[in-house]
Amino acid sequence: MQIFDPRSIAVQSAHFIGGRVVPDTALLNVLRPSDGQVHAGLPLADASTVDAAVQNAWQAWRHTDWARRAPRERARVLRRWADLIEAEGERLAQLEAVCSTRPVRDAAAWDVPFTAEGLRFFSEYADKLGGEVAATRHDHLGLVVAEPYGVVGAITPWNFPLVMVSWKVGAALAAGNAVVLKPSEMTPFSVIRLAELAIEAGVPAGIFNIVQGDGRTTGDALTRHPLISKMTFTGSTRTGAAIMASCALQGPKPVTLELGGKSPQLVFDDVPDVDRVAGIVARAITGNAGQVCVAGSRLIVQRGVAEALIDGIAQRFGALKPGATWDGQATLPPIISAQQAARMLDIVERARDAGAQLRCGGGLFDGGPGGAYFQPTLIEGVTADNPAVQEEIFGPVLTVQTFDTEEEGLALAAHEHYGLAAGVHTADIGRAMRAMRGLSAGTVWINRYGRSDDFVIPTGGYHQSGIGKDLGRQAVEANLRFKSVLMDFAATHQ
Ligand code: NAD
Repeated sequence: MQIFDPRSIAVQSAHFIGGRVVPDTALLNVLRPSDGQVHAGLPLADASTVDAAVQNAWQAWRHTDWARRAPRERARVLRRWADLIEAEGERLAQLEAVCSTRPVRDAAAWDVPFTAEGLRFFSEYADKLGGEVAATRHDHLGLVVAEPYGVVGAITPWNFPLVMVSWKVGAALAAGNAVVLKPSEMTPFSVIRLAELAIEAGVPAGIFNIVQGDGRTTGDALTRHPLISKMTFTGSTRTGAAIMASCALQGPKPVTLELGGKSPQLVFDDVPDVDRVAGIVARAITGNAGQVCVAGSRLIVQRGVAEALIDGIAQRFGALKPGATWDGQATLPPIISAQQAARMLDIVERARDAGAQLRCGGGLFDGGPGGAYFQPTLIEGVTADNPAVQEEIFGPVLTVQTFDTEEEGLALAAHEHYGLAAGVHTADIGRAMRAMRGLSAGTVWINRYGRSDDFVIPTGGYHQSGIGKDLGRQAVEANLRFKSVLMDFAATHQ
């Protein structure tokens, strides 16, 4: 059942600068991952286009009242923006689905409402984080005054483009900044519509701008621009490191990094319902075909329950039906690109060369509408140094390691580089808390896996999975800098 015709989805192949769509010569092709066809061309902003966008944002930040208006008025604008997004839910879901791996049903049920509700969440902080009064001597008044940075540069990955705008742009705007966003060159279109809706909601022209292009040209020019006072990035660890280095040398300036992961799902043999856990573990690695930063890609399971759990997971893997994002019956979306699928095949091959065995999957589905559809894959017999355990695969590939004691389980759950998220499944609250303390990860889920709409809980990684947080109060604070004020009023008594 085809929910929409991909060829009917018109996109704006353009930048968004100074409150309007700015068409430019298309130099890149954007493919539909579902069928591998070119959907549209995309401009590539060079340093001068990036400069125009940043200058525009800087002028808007200085000369409109966005940063100075009553914070509750900024909040009202963000809420209006959220309402407009929801009102256009169906269209936005199709725009999101056509060139990404997001099934349109999921985009409509999750991504669009999450985007809107995330903006509402950030709007609520607009007038809550003004700073503090410092404990100084009695005849002095010390203030710590929260102020926006000015122009924030944001660079986002190809997965979840709408939600990423909500997290990055929502937090920055609530704090009173202007933003120049570079979305991924693979999923660049849906955010242009968001920017148009922002203007309709009352965000002043120039406060939210978008430059299209790749990382090497456009992303790099944005990172280096001297009027960008803060960078916020979500993407791979390798790119995050390059951006951090560039920020350090050109300024320096603060940078928030949300990076890759290799997150464990730790299952103890006291779980009351193995089948329920099998469902959670399977979903955590097959949702969006495993192309989720917090995908639970390493199963660490206590021996007593291992066989039953693995059977339950394999059964669920086998029931998934690959198909295009516009196919209402499909339950496993495509891999974002043929290159990424080839990279995954290479890791699986290297994993087998290093001694791993495949319980199921390991290759691409045959036939289909033209994209790359990866079989949900279970890899057993791995050690900590196996490539499938070490490297972020970003696909529906789950490694399995078994353990006997709690201590062994926690040791296996640790990763040499990453610390984005972790799941723990146990009926023993003491064990759950020991695991929570013992796991070196930015997020720990207990008896569940995955984010909820509790936006107040921040997200962000330990180790090479990132620096700083998206979501939560912490995300708004990261978009503020603090001015120290000390006033001596002793003299006025004399
Ligand atoms: P990527 O690092 O390849 O690209 C991310 C963005 O950076 C893109 O917009 C790209 O054009 C840009 N870029 C690339 N090189 C650049 C450079 N030198 N300078 C400036 N910009 C540059 O990542 P991706 O493949 O788009 O996304 C997948 C990765 O993102 C995975 O590693 C995933 O774990 C991570 N991710 C993390 C989170 C999180 O919250 N921690 C969320 C989603 C995705």
